[in-house]
Order: sequence, then structure tokens, then C-alpha cells
Amino acid sequence: MADAFDELDFEYVSWVAEKAMTALGEQRVPPTPQNFHVWFKYALGAPDELKRTINILIAQKRKFDTATNRDLYTTYVGSKGTDEAVAHQVSQQLHDVLATAKQFLSTAIADNRTQMAAISEAADRSENGADPRLLIETLMNELARATTRATKLESQFVEKSRELDVIRESLSQSEERAKTDTLTGLPNRRALEEFFRAAQAQAMEHGRPLSVLMIDIDHFKKFNDTFGHGVGDQVLRLVASALRDRVREQDLAARYGGEELIAVLPGADLAVCTVTAERIRRGLADCRITRRSTGEMLPGITVSVGVGQFQFGESMDDLIDRCDRALYLAKKRGRNCVVTENELEPELAAG
Ligand code: GH3
Ligand code: MG
Ligand code: MG
Repeated sequence: MADAFDELDFEYVSWVAEKAMTALGEQRVPPTPQNFHVWFKYALGAPDELKRTINILIAQKRKFDTATNRDLYTTYVGSKGTDEAVAHQVSQQLHDVLATAKQFLSTAIADNRTQMAAISEAADRSENGADPRLLIETLMNELARATTRATKLESQFVEKSRELDVIRESLSQSEERAKTDTLTGLPNRRALEEFFRAAQAQAMEHGRPLSVLMIDIDHFKKFNDTFGHGVGDQVLRLVASALRDRVREQDLAARYGGEELIAVLPGADLAVCTVTAERIRRGLADCRITRRSTGEMLPGITVSVGVGQFQFGESMDDLIDRCDRALYLAKKRGRNCVVTENELEPELAAG
């Protein structure tokens, strides 16, 4: 299974790894590969339940002994708690539901056979002049027994179907998680690729424009170095929500990589997309951020944006590559500005 860590950049991952090592040292946990995996996730802050559990253990001054470490690993990293485990659980439960359905059918068929036999026996007896009331009573009893069994089975079946609904829900939640970036809550690169594939097909089918804007935070490294990655993360979340709030419902705002965000705008040409990009850039430049912990006012954040329009038949990578080069030009022009692919030198635009 591809790891979400692949989407984080080298410096950020290194910082998380260092934080994990420090925490391991402070809690006297041996840095074995398994323990490191647990504490790396803890330093990353995801999943939230792992963070909460470890924080509670630390607050209670509990010793991280071998058993605790193993439990943390199996619960949050190993077999349990992963999407693979959900898939396994789903297949097991589906198997159970099918087995119940099979049992339901077999019992119903067996009941049917018993009834048929009773009816044919009654018919034989009526030919031999037996009391018809007695025969009807026998038939009614047989029918009532079968109905009781069918009702019981039906309620079991309804119960199993309900379990199936719960499974379906947990599957769709895990699918959702696989396509969401944990830090910003934005769709991740995988979701972006899926969205772009559909948007690209539609654009070509209907001859409509499709544009992409790529945002990169200016001097973000310096910002992290000065205020710490925690504050940096807060800023990244702010930029992510500014982007999400300023695109239309049919657009997709996603986290492309470390501090690079992308928006895909179906139906928008270069001019429309540039207006959106400019609105986002200005909105962020006007925004004042205060540090949550101290209330201290932080220096303004600016972003540079590269804009490009889809060309019939090209790949997402080619389009993003032009946006990236426009973005590079925006950085060269002094940052805090929007540059479109039309402004690239012809030789630069060609790649
Ligand atoms: P420029 O204006 O040229 O873009 O300068 P920059 O410093 O922003 O550019 P550079 O690409 O050199 O640095 C990007 C930085 O983004 C490096 C890394 O510390 C930071 N970064 C990437 N992902 C994350 C993240 O998830 N959280 C935080 N806090 N920082 C991140
Ligand atoms: Mg960058
Ligand atoms: Mg940057």
C-alpha cells in the first residue's frame, strides 16, 4: 500500500522524524523499526486517536513497556486500524451475510418440501374418506409452523442487511480517508488525479475550457525556521481553506505536495482562472495571522501563483509542468503575484 508519507517533502519528513526520535528518547522507548513507526505517526499527529492515546499515557506517567509498545503498534500501525484491515473485515462480514442468505434459502426450500408432503398426505387421506376438518387443521398447523420459522429467519436477515449497511459506510469512509490530506483536509494528489481525468474527458467531449492554478507559499522555509513547523502547519491550513473557499463548487482544490496547492477549474479559460488566482492571492496578502498560543501578530503571508489552460489531449503532468514554470517566473518577478503560461518565453513554454 502506498504510504501517505510519500506526499510530504524531505525537510518536513526529516523534521517529523527528529521529533519522533526526541519523543522516543524522552519516554525511554527503544527506537526499533516498529516503535519508530508508531512514534513517527505520533509526531505527525495522525491518526488523531494515536496522538490522544499516547498523550494520555504520558500524562498518566505510564511506562512504555514492551506490551504497551506492541499494543500501540498493532492497534495503530500493524494489522488493526489500517484500511487493509477494514477490507479484510468487510470480506469476512460479506461472507457471513451470504452464508445467512444461503441458510435462509435452504430452510425455506426445506419448509416448502415439508408442506408439499403434508398436503399430498392429506390429499391421500381425503381420498380414503378421512374427516376433512382434521385435514384442514393439520394443514393449518403446518403452515403456521413454517410462517413462524420464516418470520424468525426474516428478522435475522434484516439484521444481517443492517450490518452490511454499516460495512458499506465504513468502506466509503476509508475510501474518503485515502483521498484526503490529513493536515489540510483538502483532497490529496490521488483525488486530484482522479478529478482531473474526469474533467479532462469532459473538456474534450464538450469542447469546453479547463484550467489549473498552482499556488506556492512565498519564503515558507524561512517562516518555518523562524516560527516553527507547528505555526507553519497552521499557515498551510489557512492557505488551504482560503483556496477552498474561493473556488466554485464544481472546482477542485487539492494539496499537490508539501506547500504546493492546486485548483482545477472545469469550464474556466485562462482569463477566468487568472481572475480567481488573483482573488486568492490578494485575499491572502490582506490577511493578518495571529499566533494561536501567544496571540502575537505574525508577518503577512504571500503566495505566488502559476496558471495554465488545458490543451486538447495533453496529460495532467504536462499542464502542471507549465503552471510550475509560470510559478517559477512569478517567484523570479519578486513573488506575491500571478503569472500565466502566456507570459512564458516561447522557448520556455515549449519546455
Ligand atoms: P519560495 O518563495 O521560493 O517558494 O521559498 P520557500 O522557502 O517557500 O521554498 P522551498 O521550496 O525552498 O521550501 C518549501 C518549504 O515548505 C520547505 C518545508 O519546510 C516547508 N513545508 C513543506 N511541507 C510542509 C508542511 O506540511 N508543513 C510545514 N510546516 N512546512 C512544510
Ligand atoms: Mg515549494
Ligand atoms: Mg514556497
